[in-house]
Amino acid sequence: MNVLEATDVHRVYATTDAPALRGVSLKIQRGEFVAIVGPSGAGKSTFLNLLGLLDTPSSGELRINGVETSGLTEGERDRLRSQTFGFVFQDSFVLPEESVARNVALPLRMRGIPQDQQVDLVSSAIDQFGLIRKSSQLAGTLSGGERQRVAFARAVAGKPVILLADEPTGNLDSENTRLVLGHLEMLNASGVTVIVVTHSDEVARVAERVVRVEDGQVVSDQSVASQTPATVVDCGQLAGLDPAPKTPRTRSLRGWHLPEALTSLLLAPVRSFAILVAFVVAISGLVVAANLTATAADQVSETLSAAALDEVVVRLPDAGASLQAAERATELQGVLFASGSAALSESEATLRRYVGDVTMESAVATRIVDDRFLATPEVSVWPEHATALFSASDGSRAAILGPEAATSLGIAPDAIGDEIEIAGQPVTVVGHLTGAERDPTLLTSVLVSQADFVQPANLSWDLTVRTQPGLPARIAEALPLAIDPAHPESAQVRTVADIRTLTKGVNADLALTVLLVSVILLMLVCLTSSISMFLTVISRTREIALRRAVGATRRDIRALFLTEGTLIGLAGSLAGVALGVGATVAISVALGWSPSFDMVGAALAILAGVAAGSLSAVIPSRRAARIEPALALKAV
Ligand code: ADP
Repeated sequence: MNVLEATDVHRVYATTDAPALRGVSLKIQRGEFVAIVGPSGAGKSTFLNLLGLLDTPSSGELRINGVETSGLTEGERDRLRSQTFGFVFQDSFVLPEESVARNVALPLRMRGIPQDQQVDLVSSAIDQFGLIRKSSQLAGTLSGGERQRVAFARAVAGKPVILLADEPTGNLDSENTRLVLGHLEMLNASGVTVIVVTHSDEVARVAERVVRVEDGQVVSDQSVASQTPATVVDCGQLAGLDPAPKTPRTRSLRGWHLPEALTSLLLAPVRSFAILVAFVVAISGLVVAANLTATAADQVSETLSAAALDEVVVRLPDAGASLQAAERATELQGVLFASGSAALSESEATLRRYVGDVTMESAVATRIVDDRFLATPEVSVWPEHATALFSASDGSRAAILGPEAATSLGIAPDAIGDEIEIAGQPVTVVGHLTGAERDPTLLTSVLVSQADFVQPANLSWDLTVRTQPGLPARIAEALPLAIDPAHPESAQVRTVADIRTLTKGVNADLALTVLLVSVILLMLVCLTSSISMFLTVISRTREIALRRAVGATRRDIRALFLTEGTLIGLAGSLAGVALGVGATVAISVALGWSPSFDMVGAALAILAGVAAGSLSAVIPSRRAARIEPALALKAV
């Protein structure tokens, strides 16, 4: 029976004018040993690639075991190829970073053969080619002859019906050539059909049939009488093993893709690490940003909540009503104290200090405050008697400086008595603010007394009422009537609870900003990782072609690279989350905050990392799947 039958096969390459094959017809029977010879460029490799289903004819018929191949789908061709052929190329194409045993097992892994059967098949093939002592050595460290033996062992491990060898002795010395010829004869004797492309007379001499190709055509086809026809023996029987198991097709990550992807990543640690770092940076940035936003928001909320619990602010129509309003407010049950203040912006009240001929100007806010203001427990001033000087209604204008205001005017924190000018009014510095717990903005301000500072018209005056905890809402209701029974509508109550709602909005805005920044960061990582994976695909072209030649489908190759991307994304995001949490703790401790962690956010970050990893592999994996093995495996 003919195992191979080519009828009037043509192959025309799109990029060349002359056809590589012009009507080749050939029948090869099971168990034959055929040498295809001819000058360089005659079309021998092209023909061998067509026979091995690594390429398709432009026209003509090709039957394998009686099956016409032109009607097969790509998946069927892949399966038929991996179950029928073993390949040996001129360049032995070993995977240099993998061990001899793993190289030999490659076709079996690509076909999804179970691990225990792989072990038997690999050890038998390794034994057959005298590689037992080398089985755990890295293939990249082997000599040329040893590599070619690995290539033979790999080709026969899956127990092929037909061995296709393209110039298998092309790069070998005479000693290794003799060994290879011995292997070819041995395989043929065990029943394997051997077809070898060669320009070596020595190789052609061991064949029982020599087909001469010239200029894309078969010009002679001779059986060599001296050769005894090979006995047709089943290769499996000879090796004492069962014939190769039927290949289970693996179409998902449940098959070999996951371990294979993991191995590929681990075998190229530098490359994997570089991509991993990008993911770690992005994901940890995302986690730190999200956690610190939450921590900072908590901090702000805490301050505001405290205010909401015991503070009511009332806007009064004019300053004149302030003192009386404060007095009336304090009469209400539950009110601890009340004081009034009004803020002048930097532009409304320029600060000047004259030192000799030099005029110093400062832009800080000015607060006009009533006498009660400095009695508020959270506000502390130095020296102690400054409060009395400030409130004295002796006609002189007094000011108390916040530390930042003092610095900007060049006044030492322990200096008093300096003359300054605020909104054109001369003022004497009588003291310095040393603490303002509830209102840190005071530290950047200058305080002047309501009693002697001439106020601009239409100034809004705020009465801050401090209550017992939990009472602001009730007191806020009672205040307008208590302050001005005749015109309760003139006082506008602003409870701090409103501000709490406001912070929620601010927090949401902040979270959105962080999210946007994170998404942009992740997109950048996707791009970087995609580019590096694309470069990886290009550098692994031959490896991919080899995987295809020995059994992997295009879908397998796509799945392999997608799995690699997903694994990197997963590893990167796990490490990124861990780093992010650590960094959040460190930063919070340094700033004296209590850190907040967003667990849902962390889970989302991991998901985002995995998605980004897979996404970045989409285009490279498609590129990898498009690699044509016949072209990529051409000897260079
Ligand atoms: P041989 O193996 O006999 O040396 P080949 O089969 O490699 O010859 O090549 C036969 C002809 O086809 C040559 O002219 C070669 O340039 C051409 N050829 C082979 N592969 C390709 C390709 N992928 N694209 C274009 N031309 C090709």
